[in-house]
Amino acid sequence: RAMASAQPLADADALIDSVETFIFDCDGVIWKGDKLISGVPETLDLLRSKGKRLVFVTNNSTKSRKQYGKKFETLGLSVSEEEIFASSFAAAAYLKSIDFPKDKKVYVIGEDGILKELELAGIQYLGGPEDGDKKIELKPGFLMEHDHDVGAVVVGFDRYFNYYKIQYATLCIRENPGCLFIATNRDAVTHLTDAQEWAGGGSMNGAISGSTQREPIVVGKPSTFMMDYLSNKFGIQKSQICMVGDRLDTDILFGQNGGCKTLLVLSGVTTLEMLKSPNNAIQPDFYTNKISDFLSLKTA
Ligand code: PLP
Ligand code: CA
Repeated sequence: RAMASAQPLADADALIDSVETFIFDCDGVIWKGDKLISGVPETLDLLRSKGKRLVFVTNNSTKSRKQYGKKFETLGLSVSEEEIFASSFAAAAYLKSIDFPKDKKVYVIGEDGILKELELAGIQYLGGPEDGDKKIELKPGFLMEHDHDVGAVVVGFDRYFNYYKIQYATLCIRENPGCLFIATNRDAVTHLTDAQEWAGGGSMNGAISGSTQREPIVVGKPSTFMMDYLSNKFGIQKSQICMVGDRLDTDILFGQNGGCKTLLVLSGVTTLEMLKSPNNAIQPDFYTNKISDFLSLKTA
């Protein structure tokens, strides 16, 4: 599948009829930052009227499912928390799936979303935004303590990343070989504003990989954890899913790793030129400008 080059989407009805479920990436597909992409409400309505299951997946770990639910609501979209799979939720779901011991704790590098999801999952944690102000004062013989009950370090995007957090996570992982290292996502860059690219979740994870010489377990896209999780949860076959995203190395790869159909939209970070570049090996099945093309490429 990855070898054939992507086709422009010509018959949206045929694609819609060929699957039961659409998984939508969020930023660049549904919204851009805080702005709804045009035609999205009508497109989701059309798909729901055709009986399609809609699922929303985001690598952005800074919010919880509940917080994303509010964001959808603010944008005028009726999407329930159960339809939203954020990488913050994925980290908590992963720990639950492996029966993370109740007496162990998670050290968090990341923002509020991860803390909220761990709390809902009944998992003890420390770290998070409150470590953002902590500084290390190096005096002779100074030794930084750490909690020996930490059984996992979860690392996500963190605007308050600092050396204290790097050292704390490093101590947890290096001094306890059984300590898990979990990445919500490893996006190299992200689009916090549309003026430039900003260092993404991959930058914080790169720091911890660098000091620990360990590779994280990735729960966000393109890893298949969320795909497996949601296909089990809803009982959907992966061949009956179309993954829709704006990014080749996360979304389209996520769909392809899961054995789904894939549709690239050009409403986010990927341009037609990037898709067609000889340097790009990731080819979706189809591409189109934006999801509201489903409305105009409708034959029925
Ligand atoms: N991580 C952060 C911090 C972001 O701000 C974004 C997009 O805004 C993403 C990841 C990517 O999100 P998505 O997977 O919805 O495109
Ligand atoms: Ca995206």
